[in-house]
Amino acid sequence: MSSPVEKGMLKCEEDPQVSKRAVSSVSGKELGLPEVSYDFRGDRFWRKIPGWGEVTAAEFGDYAWQQRNSVTSLSQVGKVLGPLLTDPLAKDIEAGLERTPMNLRMTPYIFSLIDWENAVDDPIRKQFLPLGSQFLDDHPCYMDDSLDEDGHKATPYLIHRYPDKVLFLPITLCPVYCSYCTRSRVVGGSTAVKSKSTYGAKTGEWESTFQYLRDHSEVEDVVISGGDAFLLRPEQIKEIGMTLLDIPHIRRIRFATKGIAIMPMKILTDEKWMAALELVSQTGRERMKEVCIHTHFSTEGEMTSWTLLAMQELVNRGITVRNQSVLIRGVNNEFEVMYRTIKKLAYLNIQPYYIYVHDMVPGCEHLRTTVAEACELSKRLQGTIAGFNTPRVVCDAPGGGGKREVSSFESYDRELGISTWSAPSVRGDQKFYYYDPIDQLTEAGQKFWADQNGLEERLAAMKSETR
Ligand code: SF4
Repeated sequence: MSSPVEKGMLKCEEDPQVSKRAVSSVSGKELGLPEVSYDFRGDRFWRKIPGWGEVTAAEFGDYAWQQRNSVTSLSQVGKVLGPLLTDPLAKDIEAGLERTPMNLRMTPYIFSLIDWENAVDDPIRKQFLPLGSQFLDDHPCYMDDSLDEDGHKATPYLIHRYPDKVLFLPITLCPVYCSYCTRSRVVGGSTAVKSKSTYGAKTGEWESTFQYLRDHSEVEDVVISGGDAFLLRPEQIKEIGMTLLDIPHIRRIRFATKGIAIMPMKILTDEKWMAALELVSQTGRERMKEVCIHTHFSTEGEMTSWTLLAMQELVNRGITVRNQSVLIRGVNNEFEVMYRTIKKLAYLNIQPYYIYVHDMVPGCEHLRTTVAEACELSKRLQGTIAGFNTPRVVCDAPGGGGKREVSSFESYDRELGISTWSAPSVRGDQKFYYYDPIDQLTEAGQKFWADQNGLEERLAAMKSETR
């Protein structure tokens, strides 16, 4: 008998309704918009990886197989890629792993979607597998904790910065580790350059967080992140979800997980986890409260027929999904790429909610873009899709100012790449500064930063002038 996923794959390839959708397309030619094809690949793409050439769809579609076979070291990369891993690429990966604050972990699903014959330029590879040759020196103003989350800790697991919203971090492990992670200071274990206190989910330690939330009637909104909610056990999803729903003033909870983008098989084969999520979601609906998933696709290349099936499952169970992307240089910072990504997300019933300007965290200078580029992207995206599916492009103001519409800066010196932000409803008169990546500045701008002499004083003087 074939597994549900095997059936699912067949359904994808044979179901006339799915086939019909797979060939439909939208043309915005008259507006100069790129073509979008709603073609969700249903081929056995993982079989191009020599180590997985014999893996069946049923095995590949089993989340436990995905977890067991995740790639976590250069030697495993070599083992599964065999001759596809050239010596120069292996050396480049080795050099990257010596510089990155994030450990290596990729599911076979996302690993197989990389074009290994052009790995250096591949947008999925860039997100998860750092190369030494691509690193740039960190900006002098980078911050380990760019959003000042530690400065707003209400309990060991809770960040309370906005008046009515909190961030609950019950776990700092993930099924993959992203090079651009804003919580690289704590997520995913120590690396050659960064030691950290990563923690797994400890159910017995959450009571002080729940009590804090019971005691703070202004809190209506809880984001459960980390780390990744995909790695919470079903009983932990239930405990967190039901405890929060039992608090009368909490109206909305969101489970944050990159899982749908990197291991959609879990939605299709981890019945206990899905049942727990569905129970929380259903209970929320009965109490007129919102329970949803916030996920994280960066490009259309991460969406396949597995995603289509996973989303069908979530839609069937009445679970709303929204997407938050980080703007990453060489991955999704071109209008055409982001436009197609948004259109395909919307097609899958995933609301494209946010696009973040990359946070000023270490090891990411080569991945960051300028605020000007983000403004231009925001301008071009507006009007290309219905308003509720138009993502808000935001800069999470470094130092704890919170998310700001990208065009709402107070001032912006494009030559030096310094933008000034305020957040009157969150942090009063305080000013916040974002710094564009230096290699993207004009020659004069680059010269300003290259001269270390009195840099701090010059910056202080600039800031006081801005004030
Ligand atoms: S899944 Fe999220 S928390 Fe985990 S490494 Fe990626 S960005 Fe960081």
